[in-house]
Amino acid sequence: MGRYPVYQSPVLDAVESRMRRSGDAHGYLAGDPRPLVTILTEDDRTVKALGLTHEAIAARLRAFTDAAKRAFGGPVVVEELWRVQLEDFRGRLPCPWGHPGLYAKTHVRLERLDTGETLQWTDLSLHMIEAHGFYQGRGSPYRLDPEKVAALCAVRAQ
Ligand SMILES: [Zn+2]
Repeated sequence: MGRYPVYQSPVLDAVESRMRRSGDAHGYLAGDPRPLVTILTEDDRTVKALGLTHEAIAARLRAFTDAAKRAFGGPVVVEELWRVQLEDFRGRLPCPWGHPGLYAKTHVRLERLDTGETLQWTDLSLHMIEAHGFYQGRGSPYRLDPEKVAALCAVRAQ
């Protein structure tokens, strides 16, 4: 935890209540009672301690997404270490921060071939990392723990 109290802005209050009020169908904050500002602050600290940026993490995941798209959805093996595949879901999701536009629900599934570890994300997940530094709550099925992502995907500083 931080050394000093962190206060949540009214804007973040609105975002958090939008996520939780929607019944959290997407599971953004599932199983995580921490205020949104705490989730963001702790993940930001982790990313900085890794010597990375949210942009670098999102760019790495986007490169896997693009490789799968180029392979018409995959599966495709990238750099002999990762297998990536798209899974189409109908429909689009809005950003809970209220940005205009909708994001495809298409899931990307990644498997690291030497360890069998897997990750999954959507276009919205990448937007939320890149624009908001949000990796979703602990316990969310879609949480992209930055430390795990960095190791699993060999993310490098840009
Ligand atoms: Zn947004």
